Amino acid sequence: MTDLFAPPIQPRLSIVGRTELFPIHRIFCVGRNYAAHAAEMGHDIVREAPFYFTKSHHAVETGLALPYAPGTDSYHFEFEFAIALGEPGHRVSQEAAPGLIFGYLCALDMTRRDLQSAAKKKSLPWDTAKDVEGSCALSAITPSEAFTPSDQSITLRQDGEIRQSAQLSDMIWSVPEIIAHLSTLYHLRPGDIILTGTPAGVGPVLPGQELLGEITGLAPLKVTVNDA
Ligand code: MN
Repeated sequence: MTDLFAPPIQPRLSIVGRTELFPIHRIFCVGRNYAAHAAEMGHDIVREAPFYFTKSHHAVETGLALPYAPGTDSYHFEFEFAIALGEPGHRVSQEAAPGLIFGYLCALDMTRRDLQSAAKKKSLPWDTAKDVEGSCALSAITPSEAFTPSDQSITLRQDGEIRQSAQLSDMIWSVPEIIAHLSTLYHLRPGDIILTGTPAGVGPVLPGQELLGEITGLAPLKVTVNDA
């Protein structure tokens, strides 16, 4: 039996200091994990259970160019700290959660903000706002042996101007809490990536602009927005 057409190529990430590549399985994204960002989006700051949305393989962008999405007049950057899983786990405790982690990386959760705002008002799904082709720029992965999340700075510059600046310790839900909670909903497995939410300061981009995201101790993420 042969395939009717060539199956899609699974996206892969490079790994700092390693020759192997990291094949991506799923991409989970945490919503509202920084109080100042929740506030700027008009939400009360309450520590209820974290919530998630997902991005598909078509969203992954590992090159230097980030396509401007069609169908939006308000394409927003959200710079985020992300976790790469290297071990499986289901219903893991917070204590066991770090054992699932392979490493950490920088991520952009590009968002059609106009479509998201309209969807929120009508209680409709976020898929066309979030699961956007080329909307998830990802850096190389730094293995967990070389990085421990604490109070590192997370910074996004747009054409050199600082737009987002916070510390990883500002996250409402910690890395072990996110993994433990997400593992009650999914059988987590190697290749899963978790974007942990964005700090305050999100805003729109235009073609030609450069985004530079940095988290102290991780490989940076730099892209130029192009016309799609
Ligand atoms: Mn986000």
